[in-house]
Amino acid sequence: MGIFSDDIPDRPDTLARWSGPVPGLLRAIRDTVIPPLCLLCDARVGDPGGVCASCWSRLHHVSEPRCPVMGTPFSIDPGAELLSAEAIADPPPFRRLRFPLLYNDAARRLVAGLKYADRLDLAPWMARWMAASATELTQQCSVVVPVPLHRSRLVARRFNQSAELARHVARVTGLEHAPSALERVRKTRQQVGLGRDARSRNVQGAFRVPSERRMLVKGRQVLLVDDVYTSGATVKSAVRALKRAGASDVDVLCFARVETGELKALYSGN
Ligand SMILES: [Zn+2]
Repeated sequence: MGIFSDDIPDRPDTLARWSGPVPGLLRAIRDTVIPPLCLLCDARVGDPGGVCASCWSRLHHVSEPRCPVMGTPFSIDPGAELLSAEAIADPPPFRRLRFPLLYNDAARRLVAGLKYADRLDLAPWMARWMAASATELTQQCSVVVPVPLHRSRLVARRFNQSAELARHVARVTGLEHAPSALERVRKTRQQVGLGRDARSRNVQGAFRVPSERRMLVKGRQVLLVDDVYTSGATVKSAVRALKRAGASDVDVLCFARVETGELKALYSGN
């Protein structure tokens, strides 16, 4: 995906980005001493967790009308419940996919900041945008499950960015968070550089729900959380594992979706 950490500056101003509860007076003092900064650049913004007008305009926000299944925006309203060509040609194992942003350079910088630059302060704000883009999903699902990393990768990276997003999505929506419901049983190659079929083979059977944790998902509507939806191969493999464990339905919530050339061609007629 071409994500590099070298364009993410070190951000020592953790206090300015602290997202925990701050009493009114303390907040006023903090905002005077260390004014809130844009999540993407150093511009001052009115409230913590915001992006400046310039950065906001560089993010590609997804809004209605969009495909009810794949969440992809339609350029004109095709009418209620009309599905995208992609949803018809390749029906996914999940019920619905939602994401607040299309993956462009600005979205990539947020994702890379969280994933590679330890900008954990970004997660609560990214999760808020995600939850706001998927109210119908968060109203129907009861438990939030992140796409897990393999143990060895978790050790190398120290935290799972999807689990951070899932934790905050659960917090802002009041849903239960089950971070250990899914397990990555097979270490897979990085999906970067693989074609669509190779991606699918690479992650086949990579996930499972351990038998002692099946009660976390059995008979329940699960909200699966990941950072970026690319070909969907990883997410689909995780969805199948949740369904094998008895989940009654699975919705998927990501921060951004890659608009590949193939997808652009699919939607160019809409
Ligand atoms: Zn900015």
